[in-house]
Amino acid sequence: RTVYLRPKIYNALQVSLRPYSSGTPTTKLFINNEFVESQTKDWIDLHNPATNEVVTRVPKSTQAEMERAVNAASEAFPAWSDTSILARQQVMFKFQSLIKENVKELAALITLEQGKTLADAEGDVARGLQVVEHACGITSLQLGETLPGISKDMDLYSYRIPLGVTAGITPFNFPAMIPLWMFPLATVCGNTSVIKPSERDPGATMLLVKLAAEAGLPKGVVNVIHGAHDAVNFICDNPAIKAISFVGSDQAGKYIYERGSLNGKRVQSNMGAKNHGVIMPDANKESSINQLVAAAFGAAGQRCMALSTAVFVGDSKDWIPDLVKKAKSLKVSAGVEKGADLGPLISPQAKRRVCDLVQSGVNEGANLILDGTNIVVQGYEKGNFVGPTILTDVKTNMKCYTEEIFGPVLVIMSVDTLDEAIQVINSNPYGNGTAIFTTNGATARKFTNEIDVGQIGINVPIPVPLPMFSFTGSRGSFLGDSNFYGKAGVNFYTQLKTITSSWKSEDVSYGSKPDTAFP
Ligand code: NAD
Repeated sequence: RTVYLRPKIYNALQVSLRPYSSGTPTTKLFINNEFVESQTKDWIDLHNPATNEVVTRVPKSTQAEMERAVNAASEAFPAWSDTSILARQQVMFKFQSLIKENVKELAALITLEQGKTLADAEGDVARGLQVVEHACGITSLQLGETLPGISKDMDLYSYRIPLGVTAGITPFNFPAMIPLWMFPLATVCGNTSVIKPSERDPGATMLLVKLAAEAGLPKGVVNVIHGAHDAVNFICDNPAIKAISFVGSDQAGKYIYERGSLNGKRVQSNMGAKNHGVIMPDANKESSINQLVAAAFGAAGQRCMALSTAVFVGDSKDWIPDLVKKAKSLKVSAGVEKGADLGPLISPQAKRRVCDLVQSGVNEGANLILDGTNIVVQGYEKGNFVGPTILTDVKTNMKCYTEEIFGPVLVIMSVDTLDEAIQVINSNPYGNGTAIFTTNGATARKFTNEIDVGQIGINVPIPVPLPMFSFTGSRGSFLGDSNFYGKAGVNFYTQLKTITSSWKSEDVSYGSKPDTAFP
């Protein structure tokens, strides 16, 4: 028997019971600063990953609803882009403080719908909040350039102006941080925005846009539609949408990049990853193992910057038994439980896929030295849990290495030299993140210079840059030419307008001849 929950947190989002439905609350659309009940007949059940109870139903928005959202954004654009930059900045200041006041509620929604622990969910909000804080600096970030005196009485200068309607398509694994990479920067630059959050956990986005409206974003400036492929196709094809920000899997990212680009839109697409942690024999053992364990198994491995592959160099492989001991000590439970270190995977399908990949590793000759695939969590027997799992003797041609596992599974390789480790990493098609653990500066420097990966940590396991820099995944992990947030993010959400101006200081003499040569 399915038990339908109606968590209190949904009250904030005006989630109501549809009188003609089975009693499950529904997630609303957000158009013109109002929550709107979808008229669709096509709904997606959203399950709490720790229990598999249905907690809400997410609509596949109808064509008319999606058009309404984009029309609202188009209609809001002229006035919003004409609003003074100081006024837009003030909205961000207020939005920042409202997010801070609502961190607990946002985290509770994330844990309910996505499964991660409450502490980790607060981190999800905090890292997004930093982007909002950075957006508050828009008065410096959106400065153009000037070059006075390019000729007599002539000056050249540029503005960074907004694009129009922008769109964001987000993944399930960071339900607050990733929408916050998108609509705050887009709107503070003067654009309007239509967000399609992951259909698997849109709740945090709903609360965030409600707070943005309370902070003063005028109606139509940020809107939310729901759905899966049809909503994505709609965004890629709608001519009013000028730019698409996407974060998610390779398959969707390549597709959206191609379809959006063919339609003349700017697209920035952050995709999958396989991040390697290199452990040098001179590293600080205790600290490196702690960091490796946290970065491999935290969030149940569902982070694009998870360290999912460990490359032990030389004698550091002797530390593997200690690593296993620490991994075993992690508590696997529902994200709401005190002391939980990792929660469930997003869905039963995700769990099956992770278990199949572990089994494929065994079949191909890897050693399963820690097996969390059969774990049963007391009180949450129906949850999608996988405990920390470790495979050693993994080779680069094994499926558990060539595919992104996106679960709490660490695959381990051993090599003799740093050069071999660098070769393994540079041969991998992904370029999202990597880390080296060492106490030798020259080793760290060599690694930094020779590695072909966008984000590098030196004794830092998850080197996600702060928003005054940009998220710089590269190679197979990114398509586009402007990264998320930071200067690159502002460039993505603005276009240049250049002005060449001449104010003559002297009258042109009477009867002078026009010069037809190109100046
Ligand atoms: P996903 O690609 O399944 O979903 C992301 C979005 O794309 C969702 O809104 C979904 O509705 C849509 N979508 C899904 N499949 C689609 C398809 N075939 N065609 C068109 N649209 C589609 O990704 P996910 O499972 O939600 O997220 C996990 C993935 O995201 C992992 O691969 C992870 O590495 C990646 N990720 C990358 C980053 C990064 O910055 N590089 C950050 C977070 C997550």
